[in-house]
Amino acid sequence: MSHLTVVIPSYNEEENIESTAKAIGEVLQGANIEYDLLFVSDGSKDMTFPKVVELSKQDARIGGIQFSRNFGKEAAIFAGLSKSRGDCVAVIDCDLQHPPETLIQMYHLWEEGYEVIEGIKSSRGKESLIHKMFVSVFYGIMSKLMKIDMNSTSDFKLLDRKAVNALLSLNESNTFFRALSFWVGFRSTSVEYDVKERTKGKSKWSFSGLVKYAISNTTSFTTAPLKIIALVGFLMVIFSVVLGIETLVNYFLHIAVEGFTTVILLLLMIGGCIMVSLGIIGHYLGRIYEEVKGRPRYIIRDETDNL
Ligand code: UDP
Ligand code: MG
Repeated sequence: MSHLTVVIPSYNEEENIESTAKAIGEVLQGANIEYDLLFVSDGSKDMTFPKVVELSKQDARIGGIQFSRNFGKEAAIFAGLSKSRGDCVAVIDCDLQHPPETLIQMYHLWEEGYEVIEGIKSSRGKESLIHKMFVSVFYGIMSKLMKIDMNSTSDFKLLDRKAVNALLSLNESNTFFRALSFWVGFRSTSVEYDVKERTKGKSKWSFSGLVKYAISNTTSFTTAPLKIIALVGFLMVIFSVVLGIETLVNYFLHIAVEGFTTVILLLLMIGGCIMVSLGIIGHYLGRIYEEVKGRPRYIIRDETDNL
């Protein structure tokens, strides 16, 4: 019989571990799906990992690993994928915002032969207005740059072993799971789900965290910003040709005006563009530096005995 591994990235989720394990377990048992749960504690400082250890002693289907520090959700997902043993692997949040019942639907699609099953948010659930506005602006830009609809995709997915192995064979350290699962191809489909409200604990995202996430994922997945720099440069060249001709004509007609304001404005504009461009290039350079060092994506401190 085929087997499903459910990877659950969890960072300081002590209040959720038990209820999540129970909820997912009940749903999967009810559907007669053979499963195991793999909690990846992303350097949690609370009782998250001890809770997992306790559960694993009662139920051999529950296991977990603990990172040496917080490495981020991406690292947690990839650690889970590499430790997973199932014929298919699902990734789900620990706060039950992704409804476990959807796993059944995903599993049946997998049985039908689909290899990548994406969870698509049909609503975003309750979020503050500022958060929603911010997310829609940033995701709008990112979606354009990456050519993937970021607003409704999520990390809630079910993957066939083949797709998991393909993802694990990518040797970049700055991964972006949500987009890479599209990138690897395979027979894919999607399932809609309603985002639930977080019942316990707090969202682990801060405003600055989201900005960093947006920038780092865009630059790790696409070089479009570099192309935009070239485009801006090109537009400025055209602009400078037009302005240059005008200036020369004025000069030879002896009607060259003082134009001091223009000079200052041009200097500021060009200076600004160059600095921003250098910043973007520098950012990519930094990314290359990070990749070249080839550090591991995460470090495991502890794991339950049944792994
Ligand atoms: N998470 C993680 N590492 C982090 C931040 C979050 O493993 O550094 C996990 C977290 O425990 C949860 C999931 O990622 O299971 C989604 O996090 P959260 O609910 O805070 O994000 P939101 O749902 O608000 O986007
Ligand atoms: Mg959440």
